[in-house]
Amino acid sequence: MSHTIKVNNPATGEVVREVAVTPAADIEKALKAGDEAFKSWSRVNAHQRSALLKEWSAKIKAETESLAEVMTLESGKPLKESRGEVAYAASYIDWYAEEAKRLYGRTVPAHTETKRIIVTKEPVGLVAAITPWNFPAAMMTRKAAPALAAGCTFIVKPAEETPLTTMRLVELAHEAGIPEDAVQYVNGYGKDVGPIFTDSKLVRKITFTGSTPVGKLLMKNSAATMKHVSMELGGHAPLIVAKDADIDFAVEQALASKFRNAGQTCICANRVLVHEDIAQEFSEQLTSRVKQLKVGNGLEENTDVGPVINGEGYEKINRQIEDAVNKGAKVLYGHQYDKDDEKGYYFVHPTVLENVGAEMDIMQEETFGPVLPITTFRENEEAVEIANSTPFGLAAYFFTNDYRTGIYFQEHLKFGILGWNDGAPSAAHAPFGGVKESGIGREGGPEGIEPYVETKYLSIGGI
Ligand code: ADP
Repeated sequence: MSHTIKVNNPATGEVVREVAVTPAADIEKALKAGDEAFKSWSRVNAHQRSALLKEWSAKIKAETESLAEVMTLESGKPLKESRGEVAYAASYIDWYAEEAKRLYGRTVPAHTETKRIIVTKEPVGLVAAITPWNFPAAMMTRKAAPALAAGCTFIVKPAEETPLTTMRLVELAHEAGIPEDAVQYVNGYGKDVGPIFTDSKLVRKITFTGSTPVGKLLMKNSAATMKHVSMELGGHAPLIVAKDADIDFAVEQALASKFRNAGQTCICANRVLVHEDIAQEFSEQLTSRVKQLKVGNGLEENTDVGPVINGEGYEKINRQIEDAVNKGAKVLYGHQYDKDDEKGYYFVHPTVLENVGAEMDIMQEETFGPVLPITTFRENEEAVEIANSTPFGLAAYFFTNDYRTGIYFQEHLKFGILGWNDGAPSAAHAPFGGVKESGIGREGGPEGIEPYVETKYLSIGGI
């Protein structure tokens, strides 16, 4: 059994660093330490916790360049995106540093003069997080920041592909003065660490971002000890372009939504539904813009689209393209093979498909790659029906300047996040999360701290 994990640069296949797998006994020890630390951290006053979080954020921002470089090395994303992610990750800490001071309770008018009713909010306890490789910094901080702000202690297992960014973030938290046992990381494979987290009585909450099957498993395994769960799972975002839409704008937003991080985000547009009257113009414009995207090593400043994370991702994406083509889709641009199994790097070149239909896998399964299938619709009702036809309900986008059409989409699309003339809706101060099989709970905004607190009700009698 291997006791280290090799972290590879997905652009070259080279080993960036080897990290030690945390032995099971040490994970148990870390859980004990986290539970013990809860007793003191939860008693630190909210203003002090807030100040420590701000210090953590300041240290992260001061290290933007080196954090971004590590992130690009382990995840493959272009450096400019990694820099953006560092700022985005810090913005969650800044937001929850403020929210720490606003965990208000309430008093309730009693039904008799001899009673008083008081409601308080308390941290749930030790929180265990499992995070994915596509946003190694932001997925960690948007869990850690509300947890720590609420007074919970926190332990994270980053994705085995991208542990380095998380490890540095935890070190920076300690340098900022957050107690070592209040925020910890462990390294290992999900299938080994997951059960230790879910079986532990000390862990009171599991927060997870990743695939839907793993989310279901974690939720099931959390039932035995009745843990709180937050699940941010897969998506299959539709991007609807209505007949009246500003086509130039919709093209730019579709580009930003789809090709960021080589299409490996859970809210990436996974399919474009465009009104048939403007389909040709939209497809032509989109394709000519996609042709300008530069594929390459994320460390090179002019790279727009980096490699995909690994061979498994590469094969899945290409299988979806091939399935679509076999069933009649037309490749407007892209679809070229570019991998080296021996070295271990995998590039998927931005691809645009048209003439796609519901029977194709790409219209049902999450792609997690830079491929944009385009389909058409005639009536808005039809667009909604297609959009809602998957088990997912994370993000949906629609482009229209007609307010009736916009409100129709807003009211009928079954998704947790909507972008109306907006392909980039994520923000620390807004609630992010899905419905249906895309998950449970919200991250960001005031909603994002609620999953880390319990409500305690006190009834005082005999007054
Ligand atoms: P992806 O396929 O995008 O890598 P996963 O859901 O497999 O998505 O991975 C997201 C995170 O979940 C990673 O940290 C991974 O280690 C973890 N993970 C994978 N399988 C399991 C499992 N069976 N139990 C707990 N965590 C898991």
